Amino acid sequence: MTTVLRGKPIASAIREEIAEGSAELAGDGAPPLLAVVLVGEDPASAIYTKSIERNAAKVGVATRVVGLDAGIGTGGVEEAIARLSRDEEVHGIILQQPLPETIDASVVERIAPEKDVDGATVRSLGLLLKGEECFAPCTAEAVVEMLVRGQIDIEGRHVVIVGRSAVVGKPLANLLLRKSRRGNATVTVCHSRTRDLAVHTSAADILVVAVGRPNAVTGGMMRPGAVVVDVGVNRIDDPGTEKGYRVVGDVNYEDALERASVVTPVPGGVGTLTTTLLLRNTLAAARRAGGADDPDGSGASG
Ligand code: NAP
Repeated sequence: MTTVLRGKPIASAIREEIAEGSAELAGDGAPPLLAVVLVGEDPASAIYTKSIERNAAKVGVATRVVGLDAGIGTGGVEEAIARLSRDEEVHGIILQQPLPETIDASVVERIAPEKDVDGATVRSLGLLLKGEECFAPCTAEAVVEMLVRGQIDIEGRHVVIVGRSAVVGKPLANLLLRKSRRGNATVTVCHSRTRDLAVHTSAADILVVAVGRPNAVTGGMMRPGAVVVDVGVNRIDDPGTEKGYRVVGDVNYEDALERASVVTPVPGGVGTLTTTLLLRNTLAAARRAGGADDPDGSGASG
């Protein structure tokens, strides 16, 4: 019998924790504030920004959306981010991706380390690599959170990650390698040049797939009884639906239901946690800015 590990109840529990913490800070006159920097007109980023604003409002996290015209150039974006980094009212900053082609990707480095709530800067990634306290990219952290809250042991187990991007695969590998209860895994990372992918995936106690292609992992590639975490988000045509498409993950879900002991669904799995963790990190940053410790230490990886 396969357990479907859903993100929604986990996200709800974390949101309650955030709402309590935000109310406390608001009572002291300094509610947590997340700044969202949006450069240009990317429609998906605009939708994501609206969703952050909506979710933040529900848990008492204030938001400030800074919309910038792509014509402002790299210098203009850098200056805007530097201003937010200096602003004491702002506790967290996220720079929406993708950036217009005319803007240099290095602008993200202007985010102050203590406000880098999506672990996007070289400094945060370096700290993560060293196993020191930092904010990690929220999607990678969401995978760990799903496992921990789903009461799945990570320590000592063999985790195979398919995908080595800088936002998912690589940070996740480093999170899982930390010397902590949320880490101490043995980690294998696979990618498009991995030979005999199935040999690796079928050796996994916990298999995490972040490829960006439907059916990248099918039945025979999973060890019977494995825990399968699907990070993928893909739209596939489906004329039978109202919208003409549906969203699927990277793993063949029916196969996973037959082979795995635990599987995360798409939609309704890892993706439901990412914004919530961004808000939790903002709360943690606000607590630290106010001189308080993060009580459960859950808002930053170390
Ligand atoms: P990405 O940057 O395109 O990276 C994809 C990775 O998969 C690369 O490392 C690539 O290898 C590897 N890969 C591609 N084809 C492969 C194959 N046939 N066999 C083995 N490995 C293969 O993608 P990403 O940003 O990490 O995102 C991955 C998926 O997660 C996407 O579906 C994305 O939509 C989803 N995602 C979801 C969330 C969320 O839920 N909030 C957030 C971020 C991403 P190479 O490095 O060799 O090219």
